[in-house]
Amino acid sequence: MSETASTPVLSKSCGECGMCCKVLHISELAKPAGQWCGVFRKGSGCGDYEARPQACRGFHCLWLTSEKLDAAWRPDKAGFLMYPDRDGKRLNVVVDPGKPASWRREPYYSRLKAMSQRAYDGYELLICIGDRRVVMFPTEDVDLGVLNPDHKLVSGYVERDGAQVPFAMVLSDVEEMVT
Ligand code: SF4
Ligand code: SF4
Repeated sequence: MSETASTPVLSKSCGECGMCCKVLHISELAKPAGQWCGVFRKGSGCGDYEARPQACRGFHCLWLTSEKLDAAWRPDKAGFLMYPDRDGKRLNVVVDPGKPASWRREPYYSRLKAMSQRAYDGYELLICIGDRRVVMFPTEDVDLGVLNPDHKLVSGYVERDGAQVPFAMVLSDVEEMVT
């Protein structure tokens, strides 16, 4: 999670990026999402590299591990980082709060839209801007607004009048519907 972060066998290195040291919540450090880690040093990376927590040691963003994403997608250039979770079923796009519209710029937006085609197969592409969540589908972006971070969200397709219609909602909404 820094210029000097160790990586698996990769052809890329973090360089001067460090975006994960800003946008991610690191519980071991009590570091909130969207704020620079107190030991990050611009230009030199992690200032406590040997003692950095496991969350930092184990994190590799999608740009770092993908051969399909060129230099324009390095997170500090793009203004967001990406990483999968839910066993690869979700792709998180975590946006730099200082550049909240970065994901809507080109060439990023069109490529993200193409990636969201996997929604038809049950995958979720989730844009995270602080606590605001937007679920991207090929045909539309469902902006759920600012969410309670304790609430989980669900998304997918429902059949309506013979057509597949995308939906996204927070789980608390679902609980209210079934109680
Ligand atoms: S966001 Fe990715 S490229 Fe940037 S420092 Fe973190 S792991 Fe490295
Ligand atoms: S401890 Fe180092 S690697 Fe971890 S968030 Fe802070 S600066 Fe980044």
